[in-house]
Amino acid sequence: MIRIGQKHVKMNSPVKTTRAVSPTAVSLDTPVQYLKGVGPRRNSFYDRLGLKTLRDLLYHFPRRHEDRRAFLSISQLEPGQKGTARGVISSVSLFRAKTGTLILQVSVRDSTGLVTALWFNQPYMRKWFSVGQEIILYGAVDRIGRKVQMTVPEFEFIPKEAAGAEHKTLHMGRMVPVYPATSGLHQRELRETAAAALKTLWNSLPDPLPEEIRQRHGLLDFKTAMTRIHFPPAPEAVAGAKDRVTFDEMFCFQLALGMRRKKMQARPGIAHEVAGDLVERWKKRLPFTLTAGQEKAMKEIAADMAAPSPMHRLLQGEVGSGKTVVAAYAMAVAAQSGSQSVVLAPTEVLARQHALTLSQMLSPADISVGLLTSSLEEPARRQMARDLAEGKLQVLVGTHAALEPWVRFSKLGLAVIDEQQKFGVDQRNALISKGNNPDLLILTATPIPRTLSLTLYGEMAVSTLVERPAGRQTARTLWMDSTRREEVFTFVKSELAAGRQAYVVCPRIGGDGSKDQPGEDLFPSIQSAVEKVRAPVRTVSVLQMFAEYQHLFSGYRVGLLHGRMKADEQKKVFAAFKQKEIHLLVATQVIEVGVDVANATVMVIEGAERFGLSQLHQLRGRVGRGEHESTCILIADPKDPAGMERLQTMVQVADGFRIAEEDLRLRGPGELLGKRQSGLPDLKCLEWAVQGPWLELARKEAETMLAAEPELDAPALAPLKREVKLRFPQLIETA
Ligand code: ADP
Ligand code: MG
Repeated sequence: MIRIGQKHVKMNSPVKTTRAVSPTAVSLDTPVQYLKGVGPRRNSFYDRLGLKTLRDLLYHFPRRHEDRRAFLSISQLEPGQKGTARGVISSVSLFRAKTGTLILQVSVRDSTGLVTALWFNQPYMRKWFSVGQEIILYGAVDRIGRKVQMTVPEFEFIPKEAAGAEHKTLHMGRMVPVYPATSGLHQRELRETAAAALKTLWNSLPDPLPEEIRQRHGLLDFKTAMTRIHFPPAPEAVAGAKDRVTFDEMFCFQLALGMRRKKMQARPGIAHEVAGDLVERWKKRLPFTLTAGQEKAMKEIAADMAAPSPMHRLLQGEVGSGKTVVAAYAMAVAAQSGSQSVVLAPTEVLARQHALTLSQMLSPADISVGLLTSSLEEPARRQMARDLAEGKLQVLVGTHAALEPWVRFSKLGLAVIDEQQKFGVDQRNALISKGNNPDLLILTATPIPRTLSLTLYGEMAVSTLVERPAGRQTARTLWMDSTRREEVFTFVKSELAAGRQAYVVCPRIGGDGSKDQPGEDLFPSIQSAVEKVRAPVRTVSVLQMFAEYQHLFSGYRVGLLHGRMKADEQKKVFAAFKQKEIHLLVATQVIEVGVDVANATVMVIEGAERFGLSQLHQLRGRVGRGEHESTCILIADPKDPAGMERLQTMVQVADGFRIAEEDLRLRGPGELLGKRQSGLPDLKCLEWAVQGPWLELARKEAETMLAAEPELDAPALAPLKREVKLRFPQLIETA
């Protein structure tokens, strides 16, 4: 059945008016429910969206706008395009099609022609329409033979008193905002509440931005910007509004970061003893010569650790660039000064691997390393708690289990967080709070373009490992479409026959379809119709793939690894792969993070068009870790030019930083940083910010302002300070 989204009985109601109150009574903090028409029931929908106050409504920006300004005469309606038409209803009929679908057909006429609007399986709608009524239709136009049709258009009746005259509402005859789709709240309603919020707040909207800064960058005033971002008079008017809200967000963010940085630097940290016997002994026993990049990063870390203020350093370097040794050095320094270290890893597999490598690296220098995961049981747990409290255990490697309150150190001097994009600010803070301002080292393998890292990690110093340790290979990358899978299998078999191992990665675990498309609220039925018609995408699930590869590679042992498997199952599979008991490992991107098997030389990525560039690059980094030549094969059938471009980039570019720049350009920062995982505050305008000069401008302005007003305490800055606190409480309060 085709469902129809809009059931607006009060089609011709004017813009909702709000209760008459004195303007001082309302503020940005006034609850949404205050607006007329938003009762407790509707309120729960807003609540679910995180829209609690009028301020939230203002900042719930449209995803895009539709230009419904021009009314077309019916003869001008173009098939395949959306159009707005106005006319008089000439007939209404309800009938059942052969398929059983109930069709409501409403014909509308103007002086140039006739258009027929169709609705399905909603017989009750019939009574809304009557012949002679004047109506506006907006929707996608089809032409069936000589007939012009609109399927499930939006519509609005023109009140009798406005007959034939100009008629302008929130929904027709203007630029119309389209908000991010949500269930339970329709576009019309969101539009009406946005308009009501603006109207209600009109007399109580202070501009948080100092006039001088506004002038300097030619930015719109706050009210104009807010009006235009929701209801621009013309398409061109949106850009200026976006610039203003983007600047505001970036500026507040930079102020928050700057204030945080100052506070962190002012804290009394631990001045570690850097030069010493233990570190020297440790260095001597390393089985390889350090790269220049590693040496440099160690120097930077040494300087930070020796200083009396806490270190906040990001160590970025591609997979395989040798970050672990550098981190181990920091741990040796901590141990030498009588401090303990903790290493936080995002998965159990990774924690285990770190514990193993670190104990190999550190035990020759008599530094003890312990592993804590959620599977550690009593009495071992109690023993660990004792060892930590007594300072006997010098390095603790753990998953998020290490954040639990029972984990207490005698003297925590260094916290290391691996793959920080998987941890949030709160977790970071929880870890740090286990010591007395310990040094913090964050490791990330996601190369972040310089512009972004400078601005987004503004409170961190950055060390970068550029070159890879000598003797390491870069995987060559091939792109094949799915018609060539046979060739891929032949190649993989030849590698396995030579004693190597292989990964096969698929995008999904299985079961229900992915929810890539956000869905369009306005035209649900058209949307679902389009989806049905669209050629089925070859969706690959890891379970199907596993079965297929088991069959294809019947002479080899094929393993399966995905995120919904229990931790100890994952562990077993992984260990078996490492021991070469499994030859070919079919997995989801759980293996993206940190897995290191030097004998694996092939990485096949099925449905590669579904991964982001940075993700593909991370995956590719799983091979080329040993002395053998390695290959990454992307099996992909991209349908669009952007998809093809991404695959080309993968084939041609090996440098992770360039990949990251490309990813930023092609997909925007949200994708690159992994929105929910980034541990960053929710930056609504980041997408817009990277397209203009705003990151850099906001940073400079924030620096200048904080130099003069470190706490933004000048009375004139009160609205700005309030804004900063409101937007980034987690940065301000936990600094
Ligand atoms: P990352 O954590 O950055 O992905 P690792 O620290 O795990 O990289 O290092 C990858 C591999 O390279 C490890 O097997 C490590 O022992 C090795 N390695 C690290 N530094 C060097 C070096 N300077 N010379 C040779 N091999 C190195
Ligand atoms: Mg690593």
